Amino acid sequence: MLQLQRATQKHVSRRLRRATLQLGAWQAHRGLATPSGPYDALIIGGGPGGYVAAIKAAQLGLKTACVEKRGALGGTCLNVGCIPSKAMLNNSHLYHQTKHDLQKRGIDVSDVSLNLPQMLKSKEQSVTSLTKGIEMLFKQNKVDYIRGAASFVSPNRVAVKLLDGGETEVEATNIIIATGSEVAPFPGGAIEIDEQQIVSSTGALELQEVPGKMVVIGGGIIGLEMGSVWSRLGAEVTVVEFLGGIGGAGIDEEVAKQFQKLLAKQGLKFKLNTKVLSAEKRDGKVFVKTQSAKGDKEETLEADVVLVSVGRRPYTEGLNLEAAGVQLDNKGRVVIDDQFATSAKHIRCIGDVTFGPMLAHKAEEEGIAAVEHIKHGHGHVNYNAIPSVVYTHPEVAWVGKTEQDLKAAGVKYNVGKFPFAANSRAKTNLDTEGFVKFLSEKETDRILGVHIIGPNAGEMISEAVLAMEYGASSEDIARTTHAHPTLSEAFKEAAMAAYSKPIHF
Ligand SMILES: Cc1cc2nc3c(=O)[nH]c(=O)nc-3n(C[C@H](O)[C@H](O)[C@H](O)COP(=O)(O)OP(=O)(O)OC[C@H]3O[C@@H](n4cnc5c(N)ncnc54)[C@H](O)[C@@H]3O)c2cc1C
Repeated sequence: MLQLQRATQKHVSRRLRRATLQLGAWQAHRGLATPSGPYDALIIGGGPGGYVAAIKAAQLGLKTACVEKRGALGGTCLNVGCIPSKAMLNNSHLYHQTKHDLQKRGIDVSDVSLNLPQMLKSKEQSVTSLTKGIEMLFKQNKVDYIRGAASFVSPNRVAVKLLDGGETEVEATNIIIATGSEVAPFPGGAIEIDEQQIVSSTGALELQEVPGKMVVIGGGIIGLEMGSVWSRLGAEVTVVEFLGGIGGAGIDEEVAKQFQKLLAKQGLKFKLNTKVLSAEKRDGKVFVKTQSAKGDKEETLEADVVLVSVGRRPYTEGLNLEAAGVQLDNKGRVVIDDQFATSAKHIRCIGDVTFGPMLAHKAEEEGIAAVEHIKHGHGHVNYNAIPSVVYTHPEVAWVGKTEQDLKAAGVKYNVGKFPFAANSRAKTNLDTEGFVKFLSEKETDRILGVHIIGPNAGEMISEAVLAMEYGASSEDIARTTHAHPTLSEAFKEAAMAAYSKPIHF
């Protein structure tokens, strides 16, 4: 009897398996992959916002899938943004330092030359190892990775055009839109990007030879980072910026001025308060027509390569948001409430495609908070403590309010500054440019903002972020032991300067 039962069970399960396989074959025949949903959470976009949200959702026990159409995880950041740009910044800095700085340190190196194909290959290796690493993390955390382009069919169903051919449909109780951003075109379409001679940041990471002359349109973070790379590798770089200062939104004006001076010392040229009107390709060159912001002067700059870095815009193309009832604002950003919920409450949205600074770590924090809202009904991102970093040399980093913000808001504040030229480690390293600047509330001494220009500023700013998260005063930092000799002692001394007096300056 038992044997008969087992034989029947085996037979039934074999038939079931066969039926499932047949269904799979039929779907494959029709170009449909076997859908493995319904999911508790479906994430659209595998950038820093999306992939972090997916891993967190799976860790919290939600059955999770992530759809990504790029063919690689990591989004803009890992594929054409943060990571490749930092690889080029690091390696171009080493090249420049080897050529121009090592000798005075007692290191004689002869025949230093640039092997650009190898530098580009090294950058690619960093990118691939990191994007593959996320695939591993997906496997470890049991996130289903669906390679294809997602488009809403209804509020809970998404059609995916698979990269390997065919289509599938996925159903989910909760959906997170994390489709990121794309390069903003030059206003009015006056300049067309061909990614060869007139490039966006993506093309600027791929140039196959060092341009003789490069014009960078836009003196924001990306323009300055990419301009630095090619300047160090030998290009004559001119940055054209409409505003009166560099560094983009959120930079402290005093820091911006110092930053411009240091970059100019390195050979970058700046044309501020200058508007670009057009860029015309002729005889293998690009001619960039500019006009002073006042409109009284015109000039034509000749370049081998022009980088258009005038910003990025939210990306929702092909998502068919109407089918889901998700609304955009007039800048194309997905509208969300304070719980990341869109106008369709079970659909949330994070990262570059919605409000706030377009930064990878901001997208990641939102990814975690949005998933916590789904799972627990609460989650939080402190938008007052999101750091920004420019990875030039020296680096520039900041968090919180600038001096101009505080003045505009009529807040009474103390300033504490300490130069790296007075820091023992910076002196030992022969790397003394820049300073740390603390801004604290006059009455309470609470830290309101920290601005650093100097070596390792990007690492050092985390201490300021942590301090602000804990509502620290500058005295709290000033009374905290910092190891000697470290650059971070400059951070401590700037805090001392804000609340009392520094020792070494
Ligand atoms: C040159 C450069 C340098 C940068 N450097 C830094 C830096 O140093 N630090 C920093 O914090 N930030 C940096 N950024 C910004 C950072 O890359 C972005 O803020 C970050 O990638 C945003 O993450 P996200 O997840 O919101 O979107 P993204 O990273 O843009 O990812 C969105 C993903 O969604 C996918 N997608 C879109 N639509 C669909 C669809 N319909 N179906 C399936 N998939 C879809 C896209 O293919 C993409 O991979 C840099 C950007 C650039 C361009």
